[in-house]
Amino acid sequence: MTDTYVSHLECSKTGETYPVGEVHGLSRAGYPLLVRYHLEELSRHVSKSTIADSNEDGFWRYAPFLPVTRPENRISLGEFRTPLIRLRHSITSLGGIEENVMVKDEGRLPTGSFKARGLCLAVSMAKELGLKHLAIPTNGNAGSALAAYARRCDLQATVLCPADTPEINVREIQQQGADTWRVNGLINDCGKIVNQGKEKTGWFDVSTLKEPYRIEGKKTMGLELAEQCDWKLPDAIFYPTGGGTGLIGMWKAFQELKEIGWVEGPLPRMVAVQASTCAPIVKAWKQGKENAEFWPDASTVAAGIRVPKAIGDFLIIRAVNESNGFCIDVSDDEILSARDHLSKSEGVLLCPEGAATLAAYKNALKDGQVQQDDRIVLFNCATGLKYPLPPVSGALDKDAAIDFSKFGNGQRFES
Ligand SMILES: *Cc1c(COP(=O)(O)O)cnc(C)c1O
Repeated sequence: MTDTYVSHLECSKTGETYPVGEVHGLSRAGYPLLVRYHLEELSRHVSKSTIADSNEDGFWRYAPFLPVTRPENRISLGEFRTPLIRLRHSITSLGGIEENVMVKDEGRLPTGSFKARGLCLAVSMAKELGLKHLAIPTNGNAGSALAAYARRCDLQATVLCPADTPEINVREIQQQGADTWRVNGLINDCGKIVNQGKEKTGWFDVSTLKEPYRIEGKKTMGLELAEQCDWKLPDAIFYPTGGGTGLIGMWKAFQELKEIGWVEGPLPRMVAVQASTCAPIVKAWKQGKENAEFWPDASTVAAGIRVPKAIGDFLIIRAVNESNGFCIDVSDDEILSARDHLSKSEGVLLCPEGAATLAAYKNALKDGQVQQDDRIVLFNCATGLKYPLPPVSGALDKDAAIDFSKFGNGQRFES
């Protein structure tokens, strides 16, 4: 046993408590469970300099804030702290101020997305609790993170993807050792099958928010961001929101840090960004509701946020409201032109979900929802390389006379 500070688990809706050290899915009332800590005790034993002196480079440096008890259960595939990239000229042309906007590039993590954080924690806890077989519905990135971390510690993984999940993602999942299936439906249809199979197969359901630990993994984004900003948090965080684990997790991190006095003042405004063609949270928030309705015919180029119904909808909306943030949607055209703008003007290639946050920032700035001098962090959640890119038209015939006047025009691809 080492120093873990977990006190209990708690139903996010009713507050009912559950003991640690047992396998839990949803609460008895059917809501996500949150992990609670003895924060006062933690703060007596752990300081900012304990963290600074940690020889862990990745998120395990925040182990005191995490639920894994035994160090041998901390699985790793070489995580590290992801960079904050300050944007320059690309942001002035959108009306912003250079250096005030940063991209946190999560695409550098193992399996190429921030799903690594959540699934690493979920799998580590599954190992600790003696589970053998994990199953997940996925739009791609969660499945590949589950596959990789499960194989890393010899657990079995079954992954169900919507039939139209990009080929690259489905193959990646299978290549990392998971039992991989396409389903002729959306992610919620995959989720139903995972749920139905629990008794027959004995697998454990690691769907978004249906077990307590993926949130804790995503919480490390907030802890890491705080440490990287020298414990002075930004004014607003734009987060591409599907199931909302990351937004909920970061907000939980900030509250825990505030409670122990490591951060002060107003916490960042949490901004939930969705695609206009799948925006259930934005719709509910605008109507002043706590729960979102199922969004029919969900489709968007930003596959990671194609979630027509989120079980943690009320937790997302609660975090947005408590932080004085807002919800905003952007069209697929805006997403792709934001991606093209940033990569072509500044060499930062975002995934479409990450690009959605840039498009949302641009609109929010125009509408006065954020100000030019606000310090902003945009989350790029996956590597842009996993997504289809436009074809290249330039071709040269080495045997013909070459017209050198046509080279070096960086604007060639500009629309
Ligand atoms: C899963 C995913 C999201 C959404 O994350 P949540 O925390 O579940 O809302 C956004 N972008 C990418 C690339 C993803 O894989």
